[in-house]
Amino acid sequence: MSARVLVVDDVLPNVRILEAKLSSEYYQVFTASDGPEALEVVERDNPDIVLLDVMMPGMDGFEVCRRMKANPAVSHIPVVMVTALSDASDRVQGLEAGADDFLTKPVNDMALFSRVRSLVRLKMTMDELKLRRQTGERLGMVSTEAEINVAGAPVLVIDDNASDNRHVKRHMGEGFDLMFEADPEAAIALAREGDPDLVILSLDHKGTDPLRLTSRIRNDAATRQVPILMIGEESDNERIAKGLELGVTDYLLRPIDGNELTARAKTQVRRKRFQDQLRESVEASITMAMTDPLTGLYNRRYLDQHLEMAMQRNRTAGKPLSYILLDIDHFKAVNDSHGHAAGDRILQQFSRRIQHSVRDFDLCARYGGEEFVVMMPEADRALAEKVGERLRHAMEEAPFETGEDAGSVAVTCSLGGATLRDDEDAASLMKRADMALYEAKGAGRNRVVMSD
Ligand code: GH3
Ligand code: MG
Ligand code: MG
Repeated sequence: MSARVLVVDDVLPNVRILEAKLSSEYYQVFTASDGPEALEVVERDNPDIVLLDVMMPGMDGFEVCRRMKANPAVSHIPVVMVTALSDASDRVQGLEAGADDFLTKPVNDMALFSRVRSLVRLKMTMDELKLRRQTGERLGMVSTEAEINVAGAPVLVIDDNASDNRHVKRHMGEGFDLMFEADPEAAIALAREGDPDLVILSLDHKGTDPLRLTSRIRNDAATRQVPILMIGEESDNERIAKGLELGVTDYLLRPIDGNELTARAKTQVRRKRFQDQLRESVEASITMAMTDPLTGLYNRRYLDQHLEMAMQRNRTAGKPLSYILLDIDHFKAVNDSHGHAAGDRILQQFSRRIQHSVRDFDLCARYGGEEFVVMMPEADRALAEKVGERLRHAMEEAPFETGEDAGSVAVTCSLGGATLRDDEDAASLMKRADMALYEAKGAGRNRVVMSD
C-alpha cells in the first residue's frame, strides 16, 4: 500500500532519517521544516498522513495539529505526533490537540510502519466512503451520512493477567463496552458471537499461544474483519513483528499508557466502523442497481443478465426453462379513475401476488411500467401454463386496495408464455412471449396464451 506522507521536523537529520525509511517502503514523502510550511504543504499537497514533530521553534506541533483539525478541508488527515521518549504529558497534550497517534523518538521501524499503515488504511476507508456517498447523492440516493461514534463500542479483551485487565478496565471502562475472556476457546466463540469492534490480545497470555489465536481470528470468516490490538513487551519485538505479519492491526508496549491505549483503541474501532459502513453502502448500491424501488422485484437490467445465465445452465443440464410475461389490463384507466398513487399501490400488491404464486427459485422481475416477468427454470410448457393460470387467478380472485380506506378495485392481467426451444436465444424467447401476450390481449384480456 503506497501513500503520501508529510514529515515535519525542524531538525534536518530527523527529517532525512524518516524520509529514507519511508521511501525504502515506497511511500511518497514530502517534508517541511516548520509549522507554517507544514500547514502550507498540507493544503497544497493533501498528504495521506502527517508525522509531526512536537518541539519546533515558532509554531510548535500542537499548534499545527490544532489548526489542521480546525480546518475542514484537511481535518480528516491523520496526524501522528512524534514526541521525545516517554514524555507522557506530551501525549495528553497531543490528544487534546486532536492527534490520532504517537511515535517516540528515536523512531523504531516497526512502530513507524505499523502506525502509518494503520492510519493510512483508516483514511483510505474514509475517503472511499465519502466518495461513495457523493456518488450516491448524485444519483439521488438518500445520504446515510452518520458520524462515526466509537462510544460504547464492544471490545473483547483476551488476557489472563488480572492486573492488565484491571488496567484496561480503568482506562477504557468508561468509553467502551468491555468483555474479558481469558479462555482461548471461549474467547474465539465470543469474538464470533459478540461481534466486537476490537480485540485486545496480550502476548503475555500464559494459557495459550497468542499468535496462534491471532491466526485463528484472521482465518475465520466470522471474525476476519475485526481489528486486533496486541499488547507486548519491548523484548517481544520478534513476536510482535510476527503478529503484524499475521494480521495484528496495531500494538502497544508495556507499561501500558492509558492515553495511548485509548487513542489506539479508538483508531481501530473507527476504522472497523467505517469499513462496516462502506460494506453496507456497497451492498445497498448493489441492491439499488438490481431491484425496482417501487416493488422490490428485480429490474429489467438484472433479468436480462440473469436470463442468459439461467438459459445456459438449464441447457447444459438438459432441463427446460419457461418465461411468462404479465401485463395489467386497462391499467391506464385504473390510473385515470383512481389516481397515480393508487396505481402504485396496485403495482405493489400485484408484485406480492406474483411472488406468492411462484416457487422460491423462479425469478420475478418488473420489466417495465405495468409489465412483469416470471422466469421459471426447470419448468416445461405444461407447468408454465399451469403457473400462468395460477397467476391470472391470483389477480382476478380478489380486488386490490387503492389506499387507506379508499376502497378497492378489480384488476386483471393478460399473460403470454414461452418455453425455451433448442438453439433459441433470449431475444427470440422474449419475442415469442410478447407475441403470445399480444394474442391474449386481442382475445379479450384476462387470459393466458402459450406460444407454440
Ligand atoms: P392494456 O390492457 O392494453 O395493457 O391497457 P393498459 O392501459 O394497461 O396499457 P397501456 O400500455 O396503454 O398503459 C399502461 C399504463 O400503465 C400507463 C401508465 O400510466 C401506467 N403505468 C406505468 N408505470 C406506472 C407506474 O409506475 N405507476 C403507475 N401508477 N402507473 C404506471
Ligand atoms: Mg403495457
Ligand atoms: Mg397493460
